[in-house]
Amino acid sequence: MTSPRKILVTGGAGYIGSHTVQLLLEQGYDVAVVDNLSKGYRRNVPAGRLFAMNIADTKALTELMRQTRTEAVIHFAASIAVGESMREPETYFANNTCASLSLLTAMLRADVKHLVFSSTAAVYGNPHASPILESFPLQAVNPYGESKVMVETLLRWFGAIHHLTSVSLRYFNASGCDPQGRLGEEHEPETHLIPLLLRAVATGTPVTVFGGDYDTPDGTCIRDYIHVLDLAQAHILALEYLMQGGASDQFNVGTGTGHTVMEAIRAVEEVTAQKVPYVIGPRREGDPPALVASSDKLRSKLGWSPKYGDLRTIVEHAWNFARSKS
Ligand code: UDP
Repeated sequence: MTSPRKILVTGGAGYIGSHTVQLLLEQGYDVAVVDNLSKGYRRNVPAGRLFAMNIADTKALTELMRQTRTEAVIHFAASIAVGESMREPETYFANNTCASLSLLTAMLRADVKHLVFSSTAAVYGNPHASPILESFPLQAVNPYGESKVMVETLLRWFGAIHHLTSVSLRYFNASGCDPQGRLGEEHEPETHLIPLLLRAVATGTPVTVFGGDYDTPDGTCIRDYIHVLDLAQAHILALEYLMQGGASDQFNVGTGTGHTVMEAIRAVEEVTAQKVPYVIGPRREGDPPALVASSDKLRSKLGWSPKYGDLRTIVEHAWNFARSKS
């Protein structure tokens, strides 16, 4: 019997990271998690797998990868709030770009050759057409997106010079959670639409819809909501692709279907059988009217397809988790 592949996951105590760790373990991988617990939760990581350290500590990270005989890395650890990045760009370039450089340096020293990187649809900025193809220009319009573009650039050079192979997964709107309710989405502060809509139902405090005058069917923004477990599965497919000798590449991870904010409100009302209290407010700075992925490349090249593709299922899973916490 072959021994399980040893994978290091940075940011594995966070929302997407912890769902991916759970899926990796279910699929027989041996996982070590590095997380500084600044945003993630210790309880999200199975006992004995968490190494509480900062990925900016290149030396400690190198040692850990040597000790655990890491074969590949999945890199989630990052700051994620677009609005905050417009106020504190330094935090984003430090935590996302510089810390990733530290990780890549450690990988080099420990002779680890494969990386799956959490990139984002924010690398495209305000795309000129929809759905978005991977070949569209990278024109981030905020420091968050730019910090990820910079890591994709680092990856290109580490590939060309050091033969590190990588897959950058450009996420659309991750949402939903483990159907069994073991893990969920818990950001502090919460900025994401679906948990905010569920919170509005629970508390009666209205949620603000950011803009009702966009050039979309009902005037509200369109996004491509992707179930976090379908996103997690894309990481595992990317990992297998790289470990089988695949060349470096970039993939969108979305369903290819867009929903307006009003459609999300209706889905929450159907699932909870309650009204969502909301008010229409001004547009949020930096919000593109529509972001919908073309997921053709991910489907055809990595054989991915969403298991939980419809918005209602995503909302149902998120609602189960929200109820279990209240
Ligand atoms: N949104 C909203 N009110 C909120 C939070 C979000 O209307 O309180 C909208 C936002 O303008 C966007 C969509 O919901 O069109 C998804 O926003 P989210 O912050 O969840 O993700 P993003 O698309 O910014 O990554």
